[in-house]
Amino acid sequence: MTRRVVLIGHPVAHSLSGAMQQAAFDAQGIDATYELWDRPPVQLGETIAQLRTDEFLGANVTIPHKERVVPMVDRLTEDAHATGAVNTITKEGKRLVGHNTDVPGFRVALDRLVGKQKMPRQAVVLGSGGGARAVVHGLITEAFQRVIVFNRHLHRAEGMVKHFGRSAAHMELRAMPWHESIIEAELAKTKVLVNATSIGLVTDESPVPAEIIPPELLVLDLIYSRTKLLRDAESAGCTVQDGELMLLHQGAAAFTLWTGQPAPIDLMQAKLAEARAGGLRSAEGEPAGPGLEGAASAAADTAG
Ligand code: NDP
Repeated sequence: MTRRVVLIGHPVAHSLSGAMQQAAFDAQGIDATYELWDRPPVQLGETIAQLRTDEFLGANVTIPHKERVVPMVDRLTEDAHATGAVNTITKEGKRLVGHNTDVPGFRVALDRLVGKQKMPRQAVVLGSGGGARAVVHGLITEAFQRVIVFNRHLHRAEGMVKHFGRSAAHMELRAMPWHESIIEAELAKTKVLVNATSIGLVTDESPVPAEIIPPELLVLDLIYSRTKLLRDAESAGCTVQDGELMLLHQGAAAFTLWTGQPAPIDLMQAKLAEARAGGLRSAEGEPAGPGLEGAASAAADTAG
C-alpha cells in the first residue's frame, strides 16, 4: 500500500517541503506520497483524526496550526512539549506522536553560524511565533545566559517567556517592548541576533534599521532568502546565515522519524534549490498572502 504523508497548513500551496520530501521518498525507494493539505483551523480536529488510519505514515504541521495541534496528539516528545509547538507527527499504531524538528533544524543553523568560535551566551530574538519558540528553546538548551525577545505585540512575547519560565530559571530570558532605542541598546550588548518574524518574507523590508546593527554580530534570519536584514548586517561587518539550513534539517529529521532511514540530505538540498529557482520560496510557516508571487520574485531578484 502506498503510504501518505501530508503537510497540514493554511495556506500550504507555496511550501518547499513537497519537493524535497517526495524526492527523498523516491530516492530511498519508499512507497509514499507527500501531499499538501490546505485546512483552515476549524477543520483541524477532523483532519488530525484522519491520520489515525493505516494509510498515513505521518504529517508535517505548519502555519497557523503548530500550537493548536498540541492537545490533539496522544504524546509529545521533549522538544514539542518544551516549545508548545508541533511541526511533525508520527504514528505508534493508531496513536499520534507530536515532534518539533524545527528545534534540531535551528541547532544546525546556529552551529554553522557560530562556526569555529566559542558558542556565545547572549542573544536577541525578534518574534514570538512558532519559529521563535524553537529558537528560544534551542538557545536555552545551548546554555545561553541572556536572551532578550522583542515582539510587535508585547503580550505574545511575555506569554512565550512565561511558557519557558521553568526551563529558563537559571538564566535571564526577558520580553521587551519593540522600541528602536531599546532594540539598539540590546544589540550593542549581544552577540547573536535571530529574526524569527516574517518581516522580509514577502516585502524587501528589515525588522531593524541598518544604522543600529553593530559590526561583528552573528545574524540568523529564519527566512529562506538573502533578506534586507542579512544584506544590511553583512554590510555592517556581521556574519550572516539565512533559514535554508534550518528548513533542510527540520525536513531531514522529519523524514528519518517517518521512515527510520537517514535522509538523503544532498538530494533534499538540491531539490530545495530547484524549487526555489522555480519560483517557490516559502519556508515552513510562511503566510502566503495575495500578491506573494510578485513580491517573492522581487525579493528573489535581490537575493543574489
Ligand atoms: P508566526 O505567524 O507564528 O509568527 C510571526 C511573527 O512575525 C510574530 O512574532 C509576529 O508578531 C511577527 N510579525 C509578522 N508581521 C510583522 C510586522 N509587520 N511587524 C512586526 N512583527 C511582525 O510565524 P512563524 O513563527 O511560524 O514564522 C516566522 C518566520 O520564520 C516566517 O518567515 C517563517 O517562514 C520563518 N520560519 C522558518 C523556518 C525554517 O525552517 N527556516 C521554520 C519556522 C519559521 P506578532 O506576534 O506581533 O504578530
